[in-house]
Amino acid sequence: MPLFEFECLDCGKEFETLVKKAGETLEVECPVCHSSNVEEKISTFCSVSKAGSSNTVNCAPSGG
Ligand SMILES: [Zn+2]
Repeated sequence: MPLFEFECLDCGKEFETLVKKAGETLEVECPVCHSSNVEEKISTFCSVSKAGSSNTVNCAPSGG
């Protein structure tokens, strides 16, 4: 089962939830304040540049 990590933009709560991504709209709400203003915490800051250089991976360290 795909488990996705989210962060509430209202209260800053980080949580994990199962999300259906098969054409479904993301309807995730914060388990604390029930806000839908949440952000998916996928590792998008891990970017692989294909053009030009080979095997260049820029990963930002996950801050605590
Ligand atoms: Zn919240």
